[in-house]
Amino acid sequence: MKNKLLKMVAVAMVACVGFSIASCGKKEKGLTINEGKLIMATNAAFAPYEYYDGDTIVGIDAEIAAEVASRLNLELEIQDVAFDSIIAGVQSGKYDIGCAGMTITDERLQSVNFTTPYATGIQSIIVKEGSEITDIDTLIDGDYIVGVQQGTTGDLYMSDDIGDDRIDRYNNGADAILALNNGNVDAVVIDNQPALALVEANEGLIILETPYTEEEYAMAVNKDNTELLNEINRVLAEMESDGTIDAIIEKYIPSEG
Ligand code: GLN
Repeated sequence: MKNKLLKMVAVAMVACVGFSIASCGKKEKGLTINEGKLIMATNAAFAPYEYYDGDTIVGIDAEIAAEVASRLNLELEIQDVAFDSIIAGVQSGKYDIGCAGMTITDERLQSVNFTTPYATGIQSIIVKEGSEITDIDTLIDGDYIVGVQQGTTGDLYMSDDIGDDRIDRYNNGADAILALNNGNVDAVVIDNQPALALVEANEGLIILETPYTEEEYAMAVNKDNTELLNEINRVLAEMESDGTIDAIIEKYIPSEG
C-alpha cells in the first residue's frame, strides 16, 4: 500500500516535470529572457537609488542588482525608462526585473511578483520655507496643489486622499521640484531619500517632519518566472546575511556618527 502510494507520487512528479518543461516557454529559454543576461528596467532620476554618474547609472538599486546578477552568473543590463512603464514591461516580458526604488503595493501585485524587500522608504512632503503647509492634514484639508512623479505611490496615495484635480503629475522628481520653485504647485510628495537629495540641491525648500506613508522596496519579476524570483530571493537572503546589502545602503546613505 505504502509502496503503491510512493510510486504514484513518483509518477505524478515525473509527469509534472514533463508537463512544465513542455508547457512553459520560459523554462526552455532558461532563467532570463536572454540567456546569460539580467535585463533591469529602472528610472535613473531617483538618487540615491538610481542616477547618472557621467554616463553610468549608479546607486543602491544598480549595485544590489549588479551583485545579484553576478551571484547568478548573469550580466546585468540596465535600461533607463519612464517609471510608469516598468511594471507593464516586466509583465509583457520586455525586462527580467524592475528595480527602481519600487514599493510593493497590492495593485502592482495583481500584475507582477515582488522579491523580498531589500530597503524601506517613506513618502515625504516638500514645501517652500515658510509655507502655510505644516503637516499632512493641512495639506489634505486645504485646497493646495500637489506635484508628484507620475505613477508613483506618492501619486496613487495623494490622488486617493485629495482627488485628481489637485494633483500635477511630472516625469520625475526634479521636474516636480521645478514646479514647486515656480509656484505652480504648493507641495511635492516623493520618497524620502530622493526628497533629501532634491532639497539639498535646491535652496529654500524643506521637508516636513511628518511622513505620509511607510513602504518597502523590492524588485518586480514576471508572474510566470517564479524560477528567477526564487533565485533572486535566495541570493538576496545571502546578501542580507553576509552584510552586502547593508554595506551598499551605507555607502549611499551613511548612517550618522
Ligand atoms: N517608491 C515609489 C513607488 O514605487 C517611487 C519610486 C520611483 O519614483 N522610482 O512608486
